[in-house]
Amino acid sequence: MIFETRGVSYRYPSVVGEAVRDVTLSIAAGELVGIVGPNGSGKTTLLRLLLGVLRPLAGEVLVAGRSAASWKRRELARLVGVVSQREEPAFPLRVREAVLFGRYPHLGPLGAPRGHDLAAVEQALERCDVGHIRDRWIATLSGGEWQRVRIARALAQAPKALVLDEPTANLDIRHEMEVLELVAELVRDQGLAGVLVTHHVNLAARFVDRIVVMVEGAARAVGRPEEVLQGGVLEEVFRWPVALSPWQGVPQVIPLRRWEQRET
Ligand code: ADP
Ligand code: MG
Repeated sequence: MIFETRGVSYRYPSVVGEAVRDVTLSIAAGELVGIVGPNGSGKTTLLRLLLGVLRPLAGEVLVAGRSAASWKRRELARLVGVVSQREEPAFPLRVREAVLFGRYPHLGPLGAPRGHDLAAVEQALERCDVGHIRDRWIATLSGGEWQRVRIARALAQAPKALVLDEPTANLDIRHEMEVLELVAELVRDQGLAGVLVTHHVNLAARFVDRIVVMVEGAARAVGRPEEVLQGGVLEEVFRWPVALSPWQGVPQVIPLRRWEQRET
């Protein structure tokens, strides 16, 4: 197992109520797991616990069999590539320099990139289809390009796991699909453990192997999309009436208009 949580809970200091409540979950290599749920349901907090950024109040988190807290940051950075929820392209960097940052946990004591570091950057640029914009300033990129560059940076780390927090927020259909296809391929081809946080249930259903449905910090349901995505669960979690319609054997969620709710 790459990630394992056992009865993990967390409460932010000075906040009433737990942001994550008693979550037990394991994520294996080669598996893409989607974490879905409404805003504020604890998805990002669960990721922070998986990454050892937050220490659990109760329960434990293991990364590659070792307590998340016991990993040195640099070691963990070699193991897990992270694309966080928000990051503005603030520094004046070229795309290739931004991706090279992914190599920092691997650099030797002098900190100078060597041949294999540059090769890893090249591969990541090509793999994420941003090789042609390698010399662009990151501040000039479109949303879709910037997300692919961030994934390339995570990939240049040569990680065993890839963790993405709402990587397609604000992207249009094509760019969203390109990012998700890329993530699914990386997980499959490189045998990574993939964790994808999103509130787009329909997309999660089509791309991930298993879904975790979060509500008020708890994992309300865990399983394959066709097992987990049931009207009752979704209406309870998202607090809105929905209909379900299968597409290629996978349930897709249709939120109902008010007049449709009266008819059904
Ligand atoms: P999600 O990612 O599902 O939107 P979060 O994990 O960000 O949810 O938040 C879960 C709960 O914890 C929310 O009620 C949120 O307001 C609260 N929360 C998140 N981050 C912090 C923080 N740094 N300090 C205090 N409360 C926080
Ligand atoms: Mg979040």
